[in-house]
Amino acid sequence: MTTSDQSQRVTTSDQSQRVTTSDQSQRVTTSDQSQRVTTSDQSQRVTTSDQSQRRSSIAHALLARSFLRSRLQPQTLRSRAALETFQARHVLAHLDWARARSRDLAKRFAGRPTSAWRSLAPTDKAAMMASWDDVVTVPVRRDEAMKIALRAERERDFSPTLRGYTVGLSSGTSGNRGLFVASPEERAEWAGAAIARVLPDWLPGLRAHRVAFFLRANSNLYESVGSRRIAFRFFDLADDFSAHLTGLSAQRPTVLLAPPSMLRLLAEATLRGDLALAPTVVVSVAEVLDPVDEGLIRRAFGRVVRQVYQATEGFLGSSCEYGTVHLAEDVAVFERELVAGSAEGAFQPIVTDFRRRSQPIVRYRLDDVLVPRRSPCPCGRVTTALDRIEGRADDLFLLGAARAPLFPDFVRRAVMLADARIDDYRVRQLAPDALTLWVAPDDAYPAAHGALVALCRARGATVSVTRGEAPLREPLRKLRRVERAFA
Ligand SMILES: [Zn+2]
Repeated sequence: MTTSDQSQRVTTSDQSQRVTTSDQSQRVTTSDQSQRVTTSDQSQRVTTSDQSQRRSSIAHALLARSFLRSRLQPQTLRSRAALETFQARHVLAHLDWARARSRDLAKRFAGRPTSAWRSLAPTDKAAMMASWDDVVTVPVRRDEAMKIALRAERERDFSPTLRGYTVGLSSGTSGNRGLFVASPEERAEWAGAAIARVLPDWLPGLRAHRVAFFLRANSNLYESVGSRRIAFRFFDLADDFSAHLTGLSAQRPTVLLAPPSMLRLLAEATLRGDLALAPTVVVSVAEVLDPVDEGLIRRAFGRVVRQVYQATEGFLGSSCEYGTVHLAEDVAVFERELVAGSAEGAFQPIVTDFRRRSQPIVRYRLDDVLVPRRSPCPCGRVTTALDRIEGRADDLFLLGAARAPLFPDFVRRAVMLADARIDDYRVRQLAPDALTLWVAPDDAYPAAHGALVALCRARGATVSVTRGEAPLREPLRKLRRVERAFA
């Protein structure tokens, strides 16, 4: 990100905003309560000469609006009942809009009234990918989007858009990667919501922030967001680590946003004395934050690590000042599909996002397993508080002939508690009766090995545990410490 010194502004009004987003073919309309952007046909087209300027202003207005909404809304939604009323109203309006434009959604409704949306059969990533062209409400076809997204990854150039829309791939494992499309306005909304949630003490005029943002993919939008109060700098995860150290030393960020795997590398560099940073806010994005990393990062920077929980499917949650992740129930409804055999009420969420227009997410089963908190969070928010995000349902271990499920969290705890010195590990399940294990430091291996064997035996399974290879540092791959390698 290079815009920090320029005269760009994020303000709460529509005036005086400047931007550099490059897309065309956007249609805009103003309507009832505020500015609303749509790709539909009733809207008026903005003419070419003013287009770039106009769109830019709109992107910034949306970012500012989303920022404010995210800041203010939690105060207006004081009870669970008020939240649910708010959701119901927004879901109905959104689905009325979306079912008229998404062929797939029209088919799923099959003539039922919009109010019957909870009776729709859930969908998932595979189904979404299979009927992509019918799902989306924008003129972006799967095959061309895929081609552009793959080329962008290969060439590390994320500037090309497709008819004005950003397309990209989630950072899952190959063969299981989700394709997403977003309008500049949706990206602006996302950025506004994310920024709002991670700058807890940000109020106009109070303090300036320098934000270091580590992403797999740059976005022309983020580059365009900057002001005297918030200056962004983008770091590409694919770049050399030494270049990051130089860049960070020059920028001296007050806010550090990165996937936990990168935060950990930066924390290690800090503890070694190779890097001197004093961020006031540290935010983990894009991957689930593992307690083993959280502890080390907190020790290095002296800050509780805040977490933005997101996926291709959108903005899903974020942690509050107590470090508890709350679901983003002001933008989506999360229904629960309980995981069989879980005493803790673990569930896979069925998500219905009532903001996302380009690619409607309606009763979409996420791959993640979430565990709710038993007691309310001390922050008092009425949104669902999580004890933890277990990670992918695909990574539940399946033990023995009965394939009894074992949550990654049990594996994690067994390893971590085996020896207090352990600060990194990998456990892969290769077959119902075979695991591999790697731990650091290496001489903690026997203790961790014993703990894993005992854990499986307590679950009635005899499992052989053998030594796994040391992991490679792969900044572009999602970090999975507990992984199942068979279907
Ligand atoms: Zn809380």
